[in-house]
Amino acid sequence: MRKSIINYAWIAAAVLLPLILFLQLAFAEEEKSVYITFDDGPTLNTPKIIETLEKYDAKATFFVLEERIVMYPDFIKQIYHSKNALGLHGVSHSEAIYSSPTAPLEEMRKTEKALKTVLGRGSKLVRVPFGSSYRLSREMAKNLSLDGYIIWDWNVDPRDSVGTIIPEKVMKNLKRDLARCKETPVILLHDRKSTAELLPMMLEYLKSEGYKMLPLSEIETPVSHLH
Ligand SMILES: [Zn+2]
Repeated sequence: MRKSIINYAWIAAAVLLPLILFLQLAFAEEEKSVYITFDDGPTLNTPKIIETLEKYDAKATFFVLEERIVMYPDFIKQIYHSKNALGLHGVSHSEAIYSSPTAPLEEMRKTEKALKTVLGRGSKLVRVPFGSSYRLSREMAKNLSLDGYIIWDWNVDPRDSVGTIIPEKVMKNLKRDLARCKETPVILLHDRKSTAELLPMMLEYLKSEGYKMLPLSEIETPVSHLH
């Protein structure tokens, strides 16, 4: 009798364990993540963006400009203390950043230095102006990565800063790119008034689609337009 109970226990374990593992995997795949990024800040709109993110239990990444770090140090602290991530967007935000093989590196070092002055810590996350497919050469990219900088592009572009902003159009772009996206979505947004106003609608949508909105970290493989 006792032996048969033990046998049943073994059979049950043999059936149940793989089933539990399978269900765990299935549910793990159900969990969708998204990385929202804001370029060109901080600006006077940053506090409102942070507040909206908090309301939706979302985290994002801010790729900031050196001049604006100096101008709005309190907003930088606010981004950091609200557990959102910070990345570097450079100094000039113009063609000047592509003027020599070391120019992007020099701009990012200067931006990181400004960040360290405010926070006591820097960031290795980088987004180059207009994306790496614009004018970033292999040599420029290599120089950045030799210094430990990680270049992030995007794979979802709602076009929130191009021409006249029509909310329905931005939402349509967001939904279209998300549907096409085969990897974890990295959404390109900008730290600006019209985007801050549109943000609740976008976060509402992402939440309803089951996305967990996370900050970027320095251990992930970046989405890159270079390859
Ligand atoms: Zn930019």
